[in-house]
Amino acid sequence: MRALVFDDNGLSFQPRHPDPPPRLGDTLVRVRQAGVCSTDLEITKGYMGFRGVLGHEFVGDVVDSPDKNLVGKRVVGEINVVCGRCDLCVSGLSTHCRNRSVLGILNHDGAFADHVRLPAVNLHALPAAVDDDMAVFVEPLAAAYQVIKQVPMDAGRGSGGEGGRGRRWVTVLGDGRLGLLVAQVLREAGAAVRVIGKHPDKLALCERWGIRSRPLADIVARHDQDVVVDCTGSATGFELAMQIVRPRGTIVLKSTVADGKPLNLAPLVIDEVNVVGSRCGPFREAIRALAEGRIDVASLIHRRVRLDQGVQAMELAGRPGALKVLLTMD
Ligand SMILES: [Zn+2]
Repeated sequence: MRALVFDDNGLSFQPRHPDPPPRLGDTLVRVRQAGVCSTDLEITKGYMGFRGVLGHEFVGDVVDSPDKNLVGKRVVGEINVVCGRCDLCVSGLSTHCRNRSVLGILNHDGAFADHVRLPAVNLHALPAAVDDDMAVFVEPLAAAYQVIKQVPMDAGRGSGGEGGRGRRWVTVLGDGRLGLLVAQVLREAGAAVRVIGKHPDKLALCERWGIRSRPLADIVARHDQDVVVDCTGSATGFELAMQIVRPRGTIVLKSTVADGKPLNLAPLVIDEVNVVGSRCGPFREAIRALAEGRIDVASLIHRRVRLDQGVQAMELAGRPGALKVLLTMD
């Protein structure tokens, strides 16, 4: 099959890569299209030490499955392949399975290829209302919904066990692919959202959605935000988050960044700040929101590129200000 592979020689398009080996109980999916994520770009800089076929945001058709109801269905797939037996799986934390592999990220070939394999339990059949372009956003949108699973948006200032209810003042740092999804989800959840970014066209998109926005250059550190969600994909995002979160507020970290940065963490102690790491989220809620047209993803598509031009697609997706680059398998 054709595949976009990252190995010790770097990133390359391979016209005759071996098909993913069958594993017991796996479902074979023919990929229609896939989305390039910042995580894919970080992997090519060394994040996770992954070697293999990249890609974890995809839509495709089930070719073969032990679950015969799935055969022929158009599906998206959850990316964590879990054991179901370890202490974390048994206690309901299976996305943190101690023996997990992760599609295109950890010990499992990904979806920038003609075929991908996943357990049937990972797959979700799509309603007709979610077209292929929307479907590629299910995985990152689910990750955006995870923020409101972890940090409820209906408790206002003084919350955290100290009473007070009302709208939460939330700042999303970063106007990239994930930041613009997170902002829409938080707004829908009732928060007073503002996006801080560097790109006038992205901030204009926020205004069109009725979401307030500010250029990064205008930001004054006032320590007044209930929640700050870092979607910058940059090591400097956390530092800025510490400057604008209020005492006893919450910083949510959504970015996976390969390089680190020395940081003085004392402000977290002085201001008694909660720090929440946030990763994968609920697919069902993301699919429902897209089917009901509650989240705009069409505006986030930057370019469509054929799989055989995948190396160039990754380069394009890594340029400052680029939104979602889709890889098409046709
Ligand atoms: Zn497990």
